[in-house]
Amino acid sequence: MKKQTKAIRTQTGKTQYREHSTPLFLTSSFTFESAEQGKALFEETEEGNIYSRFSNPNVTEFVDKVCMLEGAEEGIATATGMAAVFASMAGLLQSGDHIVACRALFGSAHQIITQILAKWGITHTYVDATATEAEWEAAMQPNTKMVYLETPSNPGLELVDLEMLGRLKQKYGFILNVDNCFATPILQTPLDFGADLSVHSATKYMDGQGRVLGGIVVGPKELIAPIRFFARHTGPSLSPFNAWTLSKSLETLELRMEKHCSNALRLAEALQQHPDVQKVLYPFLPSHPQFELAQKQMSAGGAIVTIELEGGFERVKAFYDALTIPTLSSNLGDTRTIVTNPNTTTHAKLKPDEKAVLGITPGLIRISVGLENVEDLIEDFTQAVTKSAEELQAAS
Ligand SMILES: *Cc1c(COP(=O)(O)O)cnc(C)c1O
Repeated sequence: MKKQTKAIRTQTGKTQYREHSTPLFLTSSFTFESAEQGKALFEETEEGNIYSRFSNPNVTEFVDKVCMLEGAEEGIATATGMAAVFASMAGLLQSGDHIVACRALFGSAHQIITQILAKWGITHTYVDATATEAEWEAAMQPNTKMVYLETPSNPGLELVDLEMLGRLKQKYGFILNVDNCFATPILQTPLDFGADLSVHSATKYMDGQGRVLGGIVVGPKELIAPIRFFARHTGPSLSPFNAWTLSKSLETLELRMEKHCSNALRLAEALQQHPDVQKVLYPFLPSHPQFELAQKQMSAGGAIVTIELEGGFERVKAFYDALTIPTLSSNLGDTRTIVTNPNTTTHAKLKPDEKAVLGITPGLIRISVGLENVEDLIEDFTQAVTKSAEELQAAS
């Protein structure tokens, strides 16, 4: 069976009521039929739910679906994407270990690596997303235990060559941990390129409708076991309600990603034609510097389009004022198209040199392309680009 069929047909067992849709198991704990069963469940000689911090049927259904989509053996779901990122590191690393990470990271991942893990003697080296194989190798140390990266990156849409890192993993023996949030397993399956772990903020496309927070990390049994131990005892558990919502959302993930990607490509193409847009970045545009790599490791370009407008923050304000459809928010991965100015929001805290390396300029706009009618989006963005350019010209 194909993934789409399994994403719909993977379900927890029916209860005595013979329901069609999976019910919500809003229960903190589960009962034992006997003293022996309680003992067996705790000894793990019998498999089953004990307490929702450890496992819950809704959470298990969500995990099973993501494992199926990613081609992974096991997984742990968490309350947020950041909890998944942190659990994947805290469960596997110890004092004295070293992480090599791609420089273009989600802000909180950068804080975990530089501020939190650093407190416990875990060191790091950053490498540019587009670094060569030799540059990645130069960052390796004898104590390098993990390589952590996001591809495509936020908001610069730089890609890391997963096959190349899979190859380096064979040589250096690190754990390859990939934040696959932007691509989703519909567009990219890192484990197929040799990655060990795939982590997600399920808050984004997996929910895809801007409702709930969630996270997940999937990988082989032997790596998930220590992460499970960490999660079980520290408690970043996903709520059954959020898991129920996310599991339902996975039924439409493929459908939504197809539409997100076709809308994004059409909008990117239209904006690239516009003389008042200085730059358009989208992995599946032939003008993207890593277009070939994008085609090798992704089946479509994703739903984020990043554009650069001349005129700094004044231009951004005029552009925002002229837009009628998109929402101004720092989130992404919603049915609604969202625009973000990274320089003044998500990446505002970075130092000027850090912004320069990541290409965060004042006029950079990240567009999370939603599922509205694409003709409407093209018309609205086009008129806002023109209007904001004219206004700035008139003012100067
Ligand atoms: C949003 C996001 C996260 C963090 O996820 P939360 O669910 O907000 O905790 C991590 N990585 C990427 C790439 C993200 O976009």
